[in-house]
Amino acid sequence: MSTSAIHVLIVEDEPPIRKLLRVGLATQDYAVSEAMNAKLAQEMVKADRPDLIILDLGLPDLPGHTLLERWRAEGLDVPIVILSSRTDEAGIVRALELGADDYVTKPFGMNELLARLRVALRHRLQAQGTRPLFQTGDLSVDLVKRIVKVEGREVKLSPKEYEILQILVQHAGKVLTHRYILEHVWNELSDVQYLRVYVRQLRQKIEKSPDQPRYILTETGVGYRLAEDVAA
Ligand code: CA
Repeated sequence: MSTSAIHVLIVEDEPPIRKLLRVGLATQDYAVSEAMNAKLAQEMVKADRPDLIILDLGLPDLPGHTLLERWRAEGLDVPIVILSSRTDEAGIVRALELGADDYVTKPFGMNELLARLRVALRHRLQAQGTRPLFQTGDLSVDLVKRIVKVEGREVKLSPKEYEILQILVQHAGKVLTHRYILEHVWNELSDVQYLRVYVRQLRQKIEKSPDQPRYILTETGVGYRLAEDVAA
């Protein structure tokens, strides 16, 4: 194991999934260690401080949520990407609210997982640093001047629309839960329906096909994600 490699801890009880992850991560030069249950995972986190954790929510000895909550309460601030079943939207939302950085649902594609890991790692490195000018595809957002352009033409947004876009841009590539966006834009818990209305308006202003959005992606039952690296 090279000392400079990024160390990923896989917490997953199913051997075939651990193997898939081990092989996939090794191709990207990650150093990998594995825990098949929560007890081992806690020991390994204490013993060798991984840089990133992939956490299955369904573990035999302890719910993944409990583990996640404990780690965040203890101040562990490494990125944690959870593995979940496709149908467990409530479980995904809860994990994100407990401090998970992102999720993939089983069965997952290795490229998708690797992309999520890169985004999670980059976000930790950037910490609170914000890129003043964000660009993806035909969309550009100047966070200093608060100017939004599509294909070089300025788009007028209402203050709330801009705030929603801004928070998505500040976390580009990362899923944000409905509650997270509502709390940050409205400073209180409002109805998810409000958010849907504003996102629809926002899409009509910045998306070519608002019904097939390229920029503001819907994560069904969970929240929204701003796509990075959209081809122009
Ligand atoms: Ca499992």
